[in-house]
Amino acid sequence: MDVKAYGLTHVGRQRQHNEDAFLVEDDARLFLVADGMGGHAAGEIASRIAVDSISEFILHTKEDDGTWPHAYDEHFRRSTNRLMAAVRMANSRVLEAMRKDARLRGMGTTVVACLADEGTVSVAHVGDSRAYLIRAGQLSRITNDHSWVFEQVQAGMLTEAEAEKHPLRNVITRALGGALQVTPDASETEAQKGDVFLLCSDGLTGMVPESEILRIVTANDGDLQKACQQLIDAANERGGLDNVTAVLVKTV
Ligand code: CA
Repeated sequence: MDVKAYGLTHVGRQRQHNEDAFLVEDDARLFLVADGMGGHAAGEIASRIAVDSISEFILHTKEDDGTWPHAYDEHFRRSTNRLMAAVRMANSRVLEAMRKDARLRGMGTTVVACLADEGTVSVAHVGDSRAYLIRAGQLSRITNDHSWVFEQVQAGMLTEAEAEKHPLRNVITRALGGALQVTPDASETEAQKGDVFLLCSDGLTGMVPESEILRIVTANDGDLQKACQQLIDAANERGGLDNVTAVLVKTV
């Protein structure tokens, strides 16, 4: 199975800096979105470190390396374990940057990472950047946000509608740079031809309802570039309160 992909980011209509970063690496079939946070441009640095270190790890470790000096979760295939190890290494890199430069203290970043290997698409994430699967006209969310409001919804303490308006909706409970060890959540999807995976920052999902995201992606099924542009435009038309990033990956 082959994939084609496209990604786009925009500063939005309210912010001075774009702290989101993304990567579309067709050859390695690696796709990333990271959403940085922290003052004085530190958010931009954190998301850049995450993207660079994950891609470096994936590009420089081979699938068939005989040794594996990292944690290994036997519930997942090798490619998923590589992706999770890459995310954990990115956490170390963000922490290391803060140790070296006091001005970066307090920075952090989310990441949602997608690696396609043969017919299996692995997704690993930390924070509230999301992955969705659009298949047969349906949109399903692959990731569960590591955010305070999401956890309240899961515990039955808030409704989804309350969570969307809640003053603490931007509080994330897991991030790269937040602790010495980070545990990414991971999943594996057996891809079908024509599947579209969307990776995005909360600047998209906080502004644009899922029904509209689905409509845009399915209306531009053959044109990922146009679909990405329309997703960005939709976020900005609704106020563009945050940086917005969308990466679309289609199996063909
Ligand atoms: Ca954001």
